[in-house]
Amino acid sequence: MKLPEQGVDWAELEAEMTAMTSADIDWRRGRTPLYTFFATENVNAIGKQAFTKFMSENALGGKRAFFGVKRMEDEVLAIGLDLFHAPSDAQGIMTTGGTESIVLAVKGCRDWFRTRRGTARRPNIVAPSSVHPAFDKAGELMDIPIRRIPLGPDLRADVALISAAVDEDTMMVVGSAPCFPHGLVDPIESLGDLALERDLWLHVDACVGGYVAPFVRMLGRPLPAFDLEIAGVRSLSADLHKFGFCPKPASTLFYRYAEDAERQAFDFDTWPNGRLATNTLVGTRPAGSVAAAWAILHHLGRTGYVEIARRLMEMMDAYAEGVESIEGLRLWTRPELTILNFGAEEIDIFSVADHMTRDGWLSGLTNKPRGIHAMMALQHEPVREEYLAGLRAAVEAVRRAPQDRPSTLRASY
Ligand SMILES: *Cc1c(COP(=O)(O)O)cnc(C)c1O
Repeated sequence: MKLPEQGVDWAELEAEMTAMTSADIDWRRGRTPLYTFFATENVNAIGKQAFTKFMSENALGGKRAFFGVKRMEDEVLAIGLDLFHAPSDAQGIMTTGGTESIVLAVKGCRDWFRTRRGTARRPNIVAPSSVHPAFDKAGELMDIPIRRIPLGPDLRADVALISAAVDEDTMMVVGSAPCFPHGLVDPIESLGDLALERDLWLHVDACVGGYVAPFVRMLGRPLPAFDLEIAGVRSLSADLHKFGFCPKPASTLFYRYAEDAERQAFDFDTWPNGRLATNTLVGTRPAGSVAAAWAILHHLGRTGYVEIARRLMEMMDAYAEGVESIEGLRLWTRPELTILNFGAEEIDIFSVADHMTRDGWLSGLTNKPRGIHAMMALQHEPVREEYLAGLRAAVEAVRRAPQDRPSTLRASY
């Protein structure tokens, strides 16, 4: 394909784009177990309007040109600081996603390590094996090995094993709130104690849970503290574009100490255009994301997020109960937030996923334990019975035909 010689009208282009996506999996009907996050039609409409209103502005220019965008960004971050119980010296940064937030936190930590140990030592990170690969991405970029430590029998971080893996070059330990694979919050309080005792930087990855867990706690459901309220937590990442229900790309990163945020920032002056100072990895950034996050946080407010959290948790309980009622299936974990993970003891669960895929339900998978995985939002609420009926039929089909070869599906994000 080449650039067309003559330009094409929008009407024709739109029709073509619609045709191009006709075989896509229908996330609106709850057919994808990841990638998209739906709350309400209103939230979607407001996000779309706020995003397009500021589509042409650039958040990179917030300090010198787009003061209103900068103000919205500061207010989004102030809301996050309050939500995550940050002390007064704490600082937040808006980024384009969980991966960028994590890469930046690792960079800040690496520079902190260097102020103490110089540049001759090679630092490492010790993390439970369930942490997101964004840490490995950061490690590849900065030549920092990530030691992935086996989980405890409850599928949470095993603090004793993590402690044993820490050595004099360990700069960071990580806990997730929750981890993506099993949806469980790691024992952040104990990891915080370890960090304080051994003088380590604890990063809490609340990318997936950050903007839902505080509201689930407000509902009074049992969920341990996980944020900057715990003294040992030094930085925390939380994605607005997941359960903040904001348009992509939007994430936040918070530092307990302003000086850590300064360490992480990039400040350069020796090129013809003079000083370039940013605290993000990217340069140009969508002002639309900033505006949409500001608008949605204000549109929903605390009551709106709590109500969504209530609906989400009732939905998760109902899905969990539905899965348990199917003979042969077993929940690997009781959903603590919005992730469902279950398997089977006598049949091949990936074969069940094969059946589901044939029926139009994309399945998320986990390798350890071997299971089906779903990160759920409110687009999954109305299709619960349909999904569970399909799942029951798929399990029965696999039971009836155990001579089938094992599924060739491979777990992938
Ligand atoms: C999604 C996720 C990330 C990475 O975020 P992206 O926005 O996809 O870059 C990191 N950690 C956890 C726990 C996540 O669920």
